[in-house]
Amino acid sequence: MIPVAEARRRIVAAFRLLPAEQVGLEAALGRVLAEDIAARVTQPPAAVSAMDGYAVRADDVEETPAILAVVANIPAGQTHEGAIGPGEAARIFTGAPLPEGTDTIVIQEDTEAGPRPGTVLVREGAPRGRYVRPAGLDFHAGDTGLVAGRRLTARDIGLAAAMNVPWLSVVRRPRIAILSTGDELVMPGEAIGPGRIVSSNGLALAAFVRACGGDAVLLGIAPDDREALRRMASGAVGADLLVVSGGASVGDHDLVQDALGSNGLAVDFWKIAMRPGKPLMFGRLAGTPVLGFPGNPVSSLVCALIFLRPAIAAMLGATSADDDRLQARLGRDLDANDRREDHLRATLSRDGDGHLVATPFERQDSSMLSLLARADALILRPPLAPAARAGAMVEILTFPDLF
Ligand code: AMP
Ligand code: MG
Repeated sequence: MIPVAEARRRIVAAFRLLPAEQVGLEAALGRVLAEDIAARVTQPPAAVSAMDGYAVRADDVEETPAILAVVANIPAGQTHEGAIGPGEAARIFTGAPLPEGTDTIVIQEDTEAGPRPGTVLVREGAPRGRYVRPAGLDFHAGDTGLVAGRRLTARDIGLAAAMNVPWLSVVRRPRIAILSTGDELVMPGEAIGPGRIVSSNGLALAAFVRACGGDAVLLGIAPDDREALRRMASGAVGADLLVVSGGASVGDHDLVQDALGSNGLAVDFWKIAMRPGKPLMFGRLAGTPVLGFPGNPVSSLVCALIFLRPAIAAMLGATSADDDRLQARLGRDLDANDRREDHLRATLSRDGDGHLVATPFERQDSSMLSLLARADALILRPPLAPAARAGAMVEILTFPDLF
């Protein structure tokens, strides 16, 4: 049994950054940038008004009330040719460029109609530069706005659009083939014969792959039969990784290593000091990395979180998936741990002082998907951790979006 951290290191080391491709901004959500993105424009391109009001010279409103001649009207989208002189003002609206000669905006609430037509009375002055957005306030052409390795959010897509960059170079999505194994499995919605259960791993793993930024290909359910397993696993040709769920032990019906072994599966390691997930297997089949996950639904999803996610991140060149570790107070007593690193499903809450509290479920059976769905985090307990009392600090792993 090798430690979890070592298993993860060896898995991550087997993957390389995938090549880049171009996508339009409307298809860029969740993709990972392959290169830094520089602004192609300056924003705002010129000094503009931040409010509806009057563009003035600060000197003219130093003493108030002041009466100014309104010589221009500048809505957003228009420019004013010619300068505004002393004693003059321009009516201006949010986003419109300041005309030459002006340096300050007086908001319309601080003005009223002047004594003569075509004049404005400024009741309250404004310091030089008030409500003016100088050219380049947001960014200048050439500034780096987004950095390679970033997984693009809605905000990032807005920024790329503002920087006038309609196409982005992003890393190709990793292609992950998923094969479920087990004579007992039927697809959701199929007739369930005696002794059969509904398969959940394939669909859950495929969803998680997508949540991590990959493309999933479901190869289906292989019966516990060597020939069928070999045939169905060959569907992984062209994938960047094959994930097999179930059949990872060496029971009479756990055939994955045996069946694929005769097809050239080279096992890097098998069995890790982890609960749930002990019979995890990692190897390579005809050049394609293979992750063998235990069949129990919770084991398979926890293994996906701990091992598949960083493998996908390595292929995407995305920033490490380790930043979700936090400290929390234990919500109830725990017994001493054995030699396997434990991953306890827990709910999160706040105590009276606002501290984060992680309370593990009483039962941690690895078949209980309902408790995983209800959990907010996993409590990570190192091998041989001593018994811990409620209130003790423990490390927790929170879940990524859509896990
Ligand atoms: P195995 O790793 O094949 O020995 O499977 C361990 C347990 O997980 C057994 O109870 C299986 O029935 C169950 N199991 C295996 N594959 C799946 C699956 N795709 N969906 C739900 N349960 C499964
Ligand atoms: Mg099985």
